[in-house]
Amino acid sequence: LGGSISRALAQMSNATVIDEKVLNDCLNEISRALLQSDVQFKMVRDMQTNIKRIVNLEALAAGTNKRRIMQQAVFTELCNMLDPGKPSFTPKKGKPSVVMFVGLQAHNDVHSGLGHRLTASNPTHKLKAVKPLLVSGSSGKTTTCTKYAYYHQRKGFKPALVCADTFRAGAFDQLKQNATKAKIPFYGSYMESDPVKIAVEGVERFKKENCDLIIVDTSGRHKQEAALFEEMRQVSEATKPDLVIFVMDSSIGQAAFDQAQAFKQSVSVGAVIITKMDGHAKGGGALSAVAATKSPVIFIGTGEHIDEFEVFDVKPFVSRLLGMGDWSGFMDKIHEVVPTDQQPELLQKLSEGSFTLRLMYEQFQNILKMGPIGQVFSMLPGFSAELMPKGHEKESQAKIKRYMTMMDSMTDAELDSTNPKLMTESRIIRIARGSGRPVRDVMDMLEEYKRLAKIWGKMKGLKIPKKGEMSAL
Ligand code: GDP
Ligand code: MG
Repeated sequence: LGGSISRALAQMSNATVIDEKVLNDCLNEISRALLQSDVQFKMVRDMQTNIKRIVNLEALAAGTNKRRIMQQAVFTELCNMLDPGKPSFTPKKGKPSVVMFVGLQAHNDVHSGLGHRLTASNPTHKLKAVKPLLVSGSSGKTTTCTKYAYYHQRKGFKPALVCADTFRAGAFDQLKQNATKAKIPFYGSYMESDPVKIAVEGVERFKKENCDLIIVDTSGRHKQEAALFEEMRQVSEATKPDLVIFVMDSSIGQAAFDQAQAFKQSVSVGAVIITKMDGHAKGGGALSAVAATKSPVIFIGTGEHIDEFEVFDVKPFVSRLLGMGDWSGFMDKIHEVVPTDQQPELLQKLSEGSFTLRLMYEQFQNILKMGPIGQVFSMLPGFSAELMPKGHEKESQAKIKRYMTMMDSMTDAELDSTNPKLMTESRIIRIARGSGRPVRDVMDMLEEYKRLAKIWGKMKGLKIPKKGEMSAL
């Protein structure tokens, strides 16, 4: 995909005259690539129309870097398509929230009732024999419920899991196993067959137990598809979730839009999670899911393991969609904003790949100064989305300052070590005392360090292009 977009843009750059035809040829090539990446046909067409409106032909013809102008336009347009314009509900610690997960669980037997689907033209929940919604494996709902619970548990929430999937044998055992491993309380039943009853009982129980994040896992299949959507509606009505999350396998391709829409018509979906982003799928279906549900993507699943779960970050995602690679935007930014004399040192540190607490401290200083290097770091995939989420800049700055206060109580040896085992309990307690912060905060800071070190480590050995070598698309 990246290849064909790259080719299209190169052709455009080489064209001596830029006219309507050249622009159209270029856009067609980009569109073909996006379609291959499972972006829905209608969305590709909308993108084309918008780009034509944004890109001024004369400016493009006169511009010295045509490739860059087009690349920027396509990039921005795709980012906009992933932004539904309103943030999703976010749970608050200490206040009980109910989050319901929905998503399909495929099987290959399209001759059963599941071979039918609900569509926009068939909103009355009547069955109609058309092409199946189900094209590949499970959406990854149960796994994602646990990841979501675990993620919040590490942030100090008290999560709990409720298994309201009574359709599939073994569903409760799977959730139970996951939950036990992560030390998260769970509720379910081997006997009860009414999912609404279980959901309500579970939610009530965990509210009494003062859990602040009650997660309801649901069934993904049924004898008849219409019955599944009716069941989702009933569970939602009975448990009154603060948020319904639609979970989608990144590889379902063009089926994404109809699937997402079918759920949206039954329950009020407020966020999307895309799973299996570690596979080959580029995830163009995410655009469809956002369009169909008018809700943002909040996380992506990047593996089977419980911590292979990332806050969704639009820009790296779009880079990947366009085949630009996660790092190219970041590299571009280095050359763009970091003073030339500071570049070698920074690139050196990056290519070494070892991230000490002292290095983290320095980057925090940079970020707070909002200087050029700070800007660069906020572009590093995974750095900004969690550390400085949009709209929470004040809290983020306070958090960074808090981390720095604690790091002020660390010894040189601690700051320069790359060995996580060095941070023993007694050292953690000493740092907490020295900085007047609770132990929990020191642990949080060290968790953040581990997370950032992992991201930083990915830079190791990366060939860093010199200025002018960038061919982002
Ligand atoms: P459900 O049927 O929708 O509840 O899906 P499950 O949670 O049971 O997951 C189905 C399969 O997908 C399991 O084998 C999971 O380990 C796997 N899975 C879920 N999320 C991911 C992911 O992000 N990456 C990978 N590689 N596998 C995943
Ligand atoms: Mg399941």
